[in-house]
Formats: sequence, structure tokens, C-alpha cells
Amino acid sequence: MLRDLENPKYTISNAAKLLNISVHTMRMYEREGLIIPFKKESGQRLYSDNDIERIRCIRTSINEEKLNIQGIRKILSLIPCWTIVKCSESDKINCKAYSSSVKPCWMYNHKDNICKDKNCRECEVYHSLGTCESIKNKIKELLF
Ligand code: SF4
Repeated sequence: MLRDLENPKYTISNAAKLLNISVHTMRMYEREGLIIPFKKESGQRLYSDNDIERIRCIRTSINEEKLNIQGIRKILSLIPCWTIVKCSESDKINCKAYSSSVKPCWMYNHKDNICKDKNCRECEVYHSLGTCESIKNKIKELLF
């Protein structure tokens, strides 16, 4: 069931229609690092039901809670990804995501740490933190 929700199946225009937003906005969220769509070899982007929920969360944060994109990025940067992926001390030393709190870990170019060859879209840090509730639940799970 969970896998089904992660199955990339909507084209960008179908996803935009479902969300009642423009394709331009979808692209902007990707450019700003808030979403990582599935990319086919042809370059075509596809979105899953979880991606749709993630974008709904972004829209609520912007439209109702008055956050801006930088604010959302900052919240995502506070997720302790190093605990989730179990980074070693040397991984942390070589990781900007560990030392900074400006943008989410997947927005950095990881050249010499544990994330070097990882696919961020498939990573627990990215895909289990799709909605506002799931971010908070993950932090509770990590802390208690
Ligand atoms: S693989 Fe990507 S999403 Fe996962 S912890 Fe590393 S940078 Fe973050």
C-alpha cells in the first residue's frame, strides 16, 4: 500500500491539475528544493500520491500559515538527517547539511560523505517527511 502511494504516475500537468496550481509553480518548487520528482531517462518528471500530499503541505504552509519558501527550507534543514542515515563522525565533518541550517540536506552536493551516491528521492529522510505531520512524527520518533 505504502509502495503504491510512492509510485510515480502523474505527469507534471496532471499533478498540477490535481493541485489546482500551474506547471510553472510545480517547477519552481523543484528548483527551490522542496520536491524531488521521479525523472524518467527521457527527463520527463512523474509524481506519486505522496508527492501530491507533500505539495499540499507546502501550499498550506504558504497560503494559510504564511511561511515563505526560505522558511520551509529552513524547517526541512532542521531534520536530523545524520541520525536517520546514521552518519559517522567523519561523514558529519564533511557534510554541509550537518553544519548549516539554511536548506534541506538533499540540496547540497555531497561529494565525500555517506550520501555521495545516494538517490535522495528514495532516501528515508526525503520520502518519510512528506507532510507537516510526518515531519513532526519523525522528530518525536527520533527523540523518544
Ligand atoms: S541521501 Fe539525500 S536525502 Fe538522504 S540524508 Fe543524504 S542528502 Fe539527505
